[in-house]
Amino acid sequence: MANNSKSQLDYIKDYFKANPNKDLNTTKIKGIIENQYLSETGKRFEDCDRGIRSLYQKGWLIKVKKGCYKYDPNYKSDDKTSHDFPGKIKKQILKRDKYKCVVCKLGKKEGLDLQIDHIIPRDRGGKSTLENGQTLCSRCNFLKKNMSMNSLGKKIFQNLLKQSIKKKNTEMTKIAKEFLKLFKKYNLN
Ligand SMILES: [Zn+2]
Repeated sequence: MANNSKSQLDYIKDYFKANPNKDLNTTKIKGIIENQYLSETGKRFEDCDRGIRSLYQKGWLIKVKKGCYKYDPNYKSDDKTSHDFPGKIKKQILKRDKYKCVVCKLGKKEGLDLQIDHIIPRDRGGKSTLENGQTLCSRCNFLKKNMSMNSLGKKIFQNLLKQSIKKKNTEMTKIAKEFLKLFKKYNLN
């Protein structure tokens, strides 16, 4: 009697658990897993490759190389959601942001590369989720990264603003205000 509560992912997990610490090629093992699933449930396994990839993205499997994974019972990965955005989430973020940088509203049309950025940075516990992702062009991403790396960044621009107002330098005032707006937008302190 097949256990109905056993999911497709469980079949993949069971196979890897039965073969720990071995480099397993997806192409070689997926037929075995699919057949086992078919014989126990009478149903076709939908997308074994994707299942294996998702276990890797969750940090459950180790990627040895492309199309080759390993299960190590002693391997403790960090939560994968604190690392890079999975491809699927990236696409969702791009779509939601209409394929434009959320700061300057420019995009590929203007010749800018689009990147997916962590709103709350990873080193501050930000996850690679749809909610914590945003589309930035390479230029704005560069600015953000460099400002957040530099804890003095905000102070520098606050100082610049003060100085430029004093000196009635409207151009500088404008620039400083723009930067401070970015700090506010990204909650950088
Ligand atoms: Zn931009």
